[in-house]
Amino acid sequence: MNTFAIGPIRPPFHAESLLLQVTENCPWNRCNFCTLYRGGQFRVRSVEDVKKDIDAIAAFRDKIEQYRKPDGEISHQAAMTAYQMLSNEWEQECFAMVYRWMVSDGMRTVFLQDANTMVLQAEKLAEMVAYLRKKLPSVTLVAAYGRADTLCRIAPADFALLKESGLTMIHSGYESGSDKVLKLINKGSTQAQQIEAGLKVKEAGFEFNVFYMPGSGGRPLSEENAAETAKVINAIDPDYVRIRTFVVKEDAPMWQLQQEGKFDECTDLEKVQELRQMIAALNGCTGYLISDHIINLLPDVEGYLDQDKEAMLSVIDDFFALPKKDQRLYQLARRMCFGGTYRQMNLLRPADWTKITEVEERVQDDSQWEGLMRQFLRHYI
Ligand code: SF4
Repeated sequence: MNTFAIGPIRPPFHAESLLLQVTENCPWNRCNFCTLYRGGQFRVRSVEDVKKDIDAIAAFRDKIEQYRKPDGEISHQAAMTAYQMLSNEWEQECFAMVYRWMVSDGMRTVFLQDANTMVLQAEKLAEMVAYLRKKLPSVTLVAAYGRADTLCRIAPADFALLKESGLTMIHSGYESGSDKVLKLINKGSTQAQQIEAGLKVKEAGFEFNVFYMPGSGGRPLSEENAAETAKVINAIDPDYVRIRTFVVKEDAPMWQLQQEGKFDECTDLEKVQELRQMIAALNGCTGYLISDHIINLLPDVEGYLDQDKEAMLSVIDDFFALPKKDQRLYQLARRMCFGGTYRQMNLLRPADWTKITEVEERVQDDSQWEGLMRQFLRHYI
């Protein structure tokens, strides 16, 4: 069968989505905390190539449809037999992705890769999306990443064209709303661009999702990071605010800055305090705050900003009211991936309790503790 391109990165929200690669890599590639596309050359794929990929995806879908039973379910056994008979690993990779999309997502969601799809010329992107909608009519949500500096350069008429073609959602890694922090992390965008971009995206009728990284300014800029990020969110009122706690990767330029003493990383708990400050400073927002990544310590800090703000703050305050030992045992349970929130620690299996207690008791001081937390966190990014 004809295969199609699949890029390496997608947001967790799109774990079950169909991935359609319309560009390769990141045209900026200079954020100093990010190594996702390092060494990769940015490239725009041609409309013709993307259409061929959409045709290939539709052919995989049609093949898998043959295994749908009268009750509407796809026969897993029949699909796996067909998978094993495919002639090479890449065909199997494409089959598996389309199968997952059909079974788990109900063929509704598509994510357009890679890191800044919105940089594409609007006519080209609109042609790709319109073709996608025609060939895969079950789709209801088509999403793409767009950097703030890119989004604020798009003309309203081009946004309208993209909306008309069937693009519905835009994700943007804002990371921070503070100009000082944006400079520190070399994001290549400003607070003014973020606000302008967000207002344009919302005005054009797209769903808008921004990412915020508590801790991205380090200790000296933590308060500023919370306050200035809240300012941006208050100005835009995005549909979703997704939390991605800041972690320094060993192979990122930020690691070097940290080694040279130019970046003073917040502790695991200071990042949660920063998130608290940011949420407390939000006013009049109606969007949904989501904590859908393992690097966030408190996954239950989640909810509608107009209805659940106090509840989210209570989750944080109640955690900080725990004895230090209990906080640490929960930190370990979370960082060792045992699942659950700190309020569900009573559900931990005895064997897991033994493991976290043994580790907690071995740690001699705060600095060793923080080193351990960072070591765990680096496994997840
Ligand atoms: S824009 Fe995104 S993908 Fe590109 S370097 Fe920055 S964080 Fe990485």
